[in-house]
Amino acid sequence: MTTGKIGVTTENIFPVIKKFLYSDHEIFLRELVSNAIDATQKLKTLSSFGEYKGELGEMDVRVSIDKEAGTLTVSDHGIGMDAEDIDKYINQIAFSGAEEFLQKYKDTANSIIGHFGLGFYSAFMVSKKVVIRSLSYKEGAKGVEWSCDGNPEYEMKEIDKEHRGTDIILYIDDDNKEFLEQARIDTLLKKYCRFLPVPVISGKEQEWKDGKYVDTEKDKVINATEPLWTKKPSELTDADYLKFYHELMPGQEDPMFWIHLNVDYPFTLTGILYFPKIKSNIDIQKNRIQLYCNQVYVTDQVEGVVPEFMTLMQGVIDSPDIPLNVSRSYLQADQQVKKISGYISKKVAEKLDKMFKEDRKGFEEKWDDIKIFIEYGMLTDEKFYESAKNFFLLKDTEGKYFTLEEYRTLTEANQTDKEGTLVWLYTSDPTAQYSYIKAAEEKGYTVLEMTGQLDPHVVGMLESKLDKVTFVRVDADIPDRLIRKGDSQEAGLTPLQNDIATTLFRSQIPDLEKAQFIVSFDALSGNDAPATVTQAEFMRRMKEMASMQPGMSFYGEMPDSYTLMVNTSQNVVKGIIDSATAALEKEVEPLHNEIETLNNEISAARKEAEEKKETADTSEKEKKVGELRAQEEKLISDYAATQPKVKQVIDLALLRSHLLKGEALNAFIRRSVELMEK
Ligand code: ADP
Repeated sequence: MTTGKIGVTTENIFPVIKKFLYSDHEIFLRELVSNAIDATQKLKTLSSFGEYKGELGEMDVRVSIDKEAGTLTVSDHGIGMDAEDIDKYINQIAFSGAEEFLQKYKDTANSIIGHFGLGFYSAFMVSKKVVIRSLSYKEGAKGVEWSCDGNPEYEMKEIDKEHRGTDIILYIDDDNKEFLEQARIDTLLKKYCRFLPVPVISGKEQEWKDGKYVDTEKDKVINATEPLWTKKPSELTDADYLKFYHELMPGQEDPMFWIHLNVDYPFTLTGILYFPKIKSNIDIQKNRIQLYCNQVYVTDQVEGVVPEFMTLMQGVIDSPDIPLNVSRSYLQADQQVKKISGYISKKVAEKLDKMFKEDRKGFEEKWDDIKIFIEYGMLTDEKFYESAKNFFLLKDTEGKYFTLEEYRTLTEANQTDKEGTLVWLYTSDPTAQYSYIKAAEEKGYTVLEMTGQLDPHVVGMLESKLDKVTFVRVDADIPDRLIRKGDSQEAGLTPLQNDIATTLFRSQIPDLEKAQFIVSFDALSGNDAPATVTQAEFMRRMKEMASMQPGMSFYGEMPDSYTLMVNTSQNVVKGIIDSATAALEKEVEPLHNEIETLNNEISAARKEAEEKKETADTSEKEKKVGELRAQEEKLISDYAATQPKVKQVIDLALLRSHLLKGEALNAFIRRSVELMEK
């Protein structure tokens, strides 16, 4: 028997292992099983090269619990170790990496240490004593037993061991008794070892007998040794992919489609990414991609490893080139990982492009569901945008789909404004904006449906990327002005009429919460509505942005500002303005003229003073103007209050924009009935 001290300075490392790795200590099982798998694979390789000539025999890895002895044992039939190997790999080498690492990060990051696997030594996270019993594959090798009880002294002696391979026996300490429960071990093995390439056996299959589950004689195999992503896509059917999906993500609906990744240059990467149907909240879908390293589960926290938009997808990615035992922040900064991320993004774009080119109809049918992935990708990943712009689709209100180029061609002739900007009209709510859509269509315009969660952002993105294209929501203006092709018509009102008509309408707009109105006049066609409420694109977008960004609540709190556009060519409106002029002219005209005269005097005085670099005192005159205006306004609004048709015209316009509610709606209904009775 030999005793000795484990290489390098380990005195202070055992407590470190226990303390710092506390949160993640379950990973010891992953480490030990991985070592056992490696040893097994190595022997298979040696055998295939003829360097090992003996029988391979049973090659599975076993994880067994002995509750009475308080031990958990991981056994394999791999290459094994002799005394020299143990000295080299366990006593000397194993710690050199860790020691260096701990030195470097001593003061800073517990979390980094938490993610740093210590391989074999992680066994000490849960054990008071660890024993290795091993028999090397080498001819004439002698069995060896190594044991260590958690201080740097170890013992090593020769033993008789019948079978080739290694048993790692953990004497589980009192704080970690959970690892002596088969159910706990099953859960861990399912998590980390589900797809390992060598059968992992733990416990027995159970059966239902006399009202409870009991063990059968049959060994329970934990893993599928050839998971789907390791196979060739050409050998797999849709049913295989769906079956695998449901194993991976139990309780989910069928995915829409999937992408099988398979590369060996410039790095090795395999995997399957599924596109699930996304119903509502984006967030709940995250963390559904599992990362593997040679079939060993690493994590499902893949931010930084896969492109951000792909966190909406589900599936597996397996790459030996992704460093296994490092912290997430390290992963994200790693150049190799960045390349992998870029590559995955490229592959996804290629697949979508292929689907689009090979089966446009099928692609269109899926579009509404996959749009959110593509939009998310285009918004967050410049390179993805560059590929996606060729298959990104716009959908019009009739359900027809166009690529960006196709839509440009379609609209260029009829929807270019006088500045040469192409105006793409859209609706964010086809039901609510129905009458605006119809009005735009009557002018021969087409309207896009932009109803998705990300569409407000997409509108902004496309405007910045596409040359001379602007988006305007159908209710942003009256149809004639949505796309300004020439100068707009005069409203055909005299200044006096304009004064009367403005107050006439403004005074009758009901009080609506958080809304403010400007009244304006335009001579549209006689067939257009008597009045229309519009909301300028710019203001609306500002408010929308505010509601999406915390800290911009200032804009969010501001009232919505609308324009009430009154159509002076429409017969009812004409009638209203003519009667009002006739009824009010005599009293209002003198006031109007006086105001005009005073206003002229005020500006003349100001101009004169400015030339002399003085300030004019016009306060008396201004006060007078104010008084006259108040008089004028009272006259007009008193009259307006007796004219139900004015209110009716306004309310119809409000109704069309879904602004007429509560008391105002009630009044409208009562008035409508009264008007019919007349
Ligand atoms: P790593 O696996 O990262 O090299 P470990 O501390 O887990 O670090 O293991 C150190 C070395 O000990 C391994 O590289 C291997 O040579 C040897 N070893 C560990 N477990 C086994 C085993 N079950 N069978 C054979 N060799 C093993």
